Amino acid sequence: DTTHGAILYLDDITVSFDGFKALNKLTLDISVGELRCIIGPNGAGKTTMMDVITGKTKASSGSAFFGQTIDLAKMNEVQIAHAGIGRKFQRPTVFEQHSVFENLELAMKMDKRVKPSLFFRLTSEQGGKIEEILKLIRLNGQEARAAGLLSHGQKQWLEIGMLLMQEPELILLDEPVAGMSDAETARTAELLNELRGKHSIMVVEHDMGFVTEIARQGKVSVLHEGSVLSEGTMQQVQNDERVIEVYLGR
Ligand code: ADP
Repeated sequence: DTTHGAILYLDDITVSFDGFKALNKLTLDISVGELRCIIGPNGAGKTTMMDVITGKTKASSGSAFFGQTIDLAKMNEVQIAHAGIGRKFQRPTVFEQHSVFENLELAMKMDKRVKPSLFFRLTSEQGGKIEEILKLIRLNGQEARAAGLLSHGQKQWLEIGMLLMQEPELILLDEPVAGMSDAETARTAELLNELRGKHSIMVVEHDMGFVTEIARQGKVSVLHEGSVLSEGTMQQVQNDERVIEVYLGR
């Protein structure tokens, strides 16, 4: 069984929009604890693939499983989020008026597995978790600052921290370093490398320098015309004739 131990199985997925195939027999698996990079030219189907995983778009054919048993085709977006798939969109969406600490606390309160309470008090375990995530996202010492005052990069890290508060089993990141400075991009690569092995993460990104940094120990999938054109280490896909052809347009 080659699929043993995967967190996500996309098998032969096709998505048609008025006859146009945004995804065309796409097959892709993500292993537990893997940090997988997804690259590919504009229009390759990267966003559509994320939309299928999160239930925003339904596949016309093929199957999408989360773990061994959860059929994503049978669930809506909210159910999929509750099942443990967390997505971060390209633009940061933090609560600007609230402090960094409160943003992390709010993320915890929004977690549907935590019993809602009007008199929510953090347990020491929850407080400890916030401290741990503050360090990870490089915002310890800044917890009292209003999120609206953070730099673009810091807001992105905060949002990653908010996702982590909810302990998703699979994390989808859409262009996490878009608009970041070089220094912020380098720190984001460090952050993601620290998460490797502890979380299952799929990252869609155009910044090849960044992809090279986070793909050193992992796999890259190159999408083209709705399916996986090439998959392997960064070095393997970079040397793949088909990939060169697509990127150089020969
Ligand atoms: P990427 O994220 O790799 O740039 P997308 O998944 O956004 O690619 O798009 C793949 C293709 O599907 C594109 O040609 C796009 O125009 C088309 N597409 C995406 N969503 C729709 C839609 N809702 N209706 C029609 N065409 C769409």
